[in-house]
Amino acid sequence: MKLVLFDIDGTILTSDGAAIRAVNRAFFNIYGIEHAVDGIEAAGRTDPAIVGDMFTRNLGREHEAHELERLFEEYVKELEADLSGSDGLMIFPGIPELLSELSVRDDIVLGIATGNIEPGARLKLAHSGLNSYFPFGGFGSDSPRREGLIRIAIERGQSYLPPGVEYEEVIVVGDTHHDIIGGRAAGARVVAVATGTNSMSELREHDPEHLFADFSNVRSVLEVF
Ligand SMILES: [Mg+2]
Repeated sequence: MKLVLFDIDGTILTSDGAAIRAVNRAFFNIYGIEHAVDGIEAAGRTDPAIVGDMFTRNLGREHEAHELERLFEEYVKELEADLSGSDGLMIFPGIPELLSELSVRDDIVLGIATGNIEPGARLKLAHSGLNSYFPFGGFGSDSPRREGLIRIAIERGQSYLPPGVEYEEVIVVGDTHHDIIGGRAAGARVVAVATGTNSMSELREHDPEHLFADFSNVRSVLEVF
């Protein structure tokens, strides 16, 4: 059996700024500071890491645990409102066909490995009609480090196998060098796709096992799984 873990932003879909708008609004609602996330690198990083930078850059200090909780609560509310009020989500070419094909393979279990906190990830997937493909995952709410959340996704995936059986292989699918580095550190093979922030040549520098410009040629993508 193989465990295939998909990143969300830049890999499955783009929320076209909805998440950025939502976290900016959330920070403003609580701290009265606008555009707090602007200029902070977000692609491939986890929500807790990004929000940590928002506190140090805008407030000159680290956050307390309860502040993180409060900010994420506000963020999820704002994200839900933003996604409901717009058609801002775009699913990348080939993704629906790819997920549909992989989900019926009896040698594959599908999961998520994303830096999004789980409620945010679930909102994005729900608005794309893709939640049902992913019964479990590792999320930014599980670990601020990508390698850590990938390892948690692998652990959770174990319960989809008979006791004592382990996956022969874990495959991470992602759009940034963080996915490549974190996936490799967690022992996975990495399928990189240049539909997100990193270009083909940026991704190639990190030597993923497979690299695609996008997943529009589903037949050739399926060959690597
Ligand atoms: Mg991504």
